[in-house]
Amino acid sequence: MNNFQYSRATDVADAVRQNIADPAAKFIAGGTNLIDLMKYDVERPLRLIDITRLPLKMVEETADGGVRIGALVPNSDLAYHPLIERRYPLLSSAILAGASQQLRNMASTGGNLLQRTRCFYFYDTATPCNKREPGSGCSAINGINRINAVLGTSEACIATHPSDMCVALAALEAKVQVAGPAGQREIVFADFHRLPGDTPHLDNNLRPNEIITAIELPPRGFAANHSYLKIRDRLSYAFALVSVAAALELEGGRIKEARVALGGVAHKPWRKPEAESVLGGQMADETVFAKAADLLLRDAKGYEHNAFKIGLARRAVIRTLTQAARGTPQVQSVKKVR
Ligand SMILES: Cc1cc2nc3c(=O)[nH]c(=O)nc-3n(C[C@H](O)[C@H](O)[C@H](O)COP(=O)(O)OP(=O)(O)OC[C@H]3O[C@@H](n4cnc5c(N)ncnc54)[C@H](O)[C@@H]3O)c2cc1C
Ligand code: SF4
Repeated sequence: MNNFQYSRATDVADAVRQNIADPAAKFIAGGTNLIDLMKYDVERPLRLIDITRLPLKMVEETADGGVRIGALVPNSDLAYHPLIERRYPLLSSAILAGASQQLRNMASTGGNLLQRTRCFYFYDTATPCNKREPGSGCSAINGINRINAVLGTSEACIATHPSDMCVALAALEAKVQVAGPAGQREIVFADFHRLPGDTPHLDNNLRPNEIITAIELPPRGFAANHSYLKIRDRLSYAFALVSVAAALELEGGRIKEARVALGGVAHKPWRKPEAESVLGGQMADETVFAKAADLLLRDAKGYEHNAFKIGLARRAVIRTLTQAARGTPQVQSVKKVR
């Protein structure tokens, strides 16, 4: 691990200022991803700017009836927050499907969005990886690619975004609030993460020196009809091979509004407007759910070891929408530890 300097930010403006002053610096929140990456010599910041004491730990209702979540709210606190459990149980469920209790206690909301891919080669500095070292090549395309993407890939990178929480945030159409040298701005969730294209080293559309300050949820939480299903190699402490966040608004068994987002299959949570609009006005049944799944996966392309994800995702979408429609969401096997 390289030597680095450490400083603490006193407020958001100070954090941005310190980051501008030292381009080789990185913010550190829970440290659950960044410290690992530094130990693997994948990330080499020369300064860590500790943002953990900034006043970004609130979960509060907004004037328009939504909820604002500070970027430093720990994942556990968010999952068990009464407002989130009651109004956005899809988000609670997705968070509780991730990592372990200890990690969720440390991991922050902002850090979860910015966690980096789990592609094996990204962590292995002895192998080429365009995301870690632009222009060096992609070892996964012809390598062990079981965990890699089947949608939105490019010839430069087939990595996935590993977050569970982000899949629910995509389905809920959250907004990301950021502050930077040019002031504050808001990014709709669908535009936050990027597809790899020919710039896979860029995971998201944050501008240089910007800090995430909050996530805003719109009023509609789909509390009655939702489900988050995560399929993985072990029942806990494993990243998703495929995950699905489904949310429905029903009226007399007919679908008024539908949201479906996939995790574990692309460089960002995967949604497709056609797949959701095909559900609109239909009776909630497996035939129409299968149509939506086919549309969602229409452009999927498997590689040597991960083609199984396409069929798996199709079945998972149908099952998750069925659970949502019945009001019987997938229960995460996690006990409340307060
Ligand atoms: C063994 C293990 C298993 C895991 N399993 C899962 C899982 O199943 N599902 C899942 O979703 N996640 C999983 N995770 C990932 C975990 O959720 C993330 O590591 C965590 O959310 C990152 O948050 P953090 O606060 O620790 O971020 P840090 O490690 O502190 O930071 C991560 C990155 O975000 C940047 N950053 C942090 N906060 C901000 C901010 N406010 N503004 C701008 N930049 C910021 C940092 O500079 C850094 O680049 C797992 C992690 C581990 C170690
Ligand atoms: S898939 Fe992306 S992260 Fe993985 S080796 Fe290829 S370029 Fe690197």
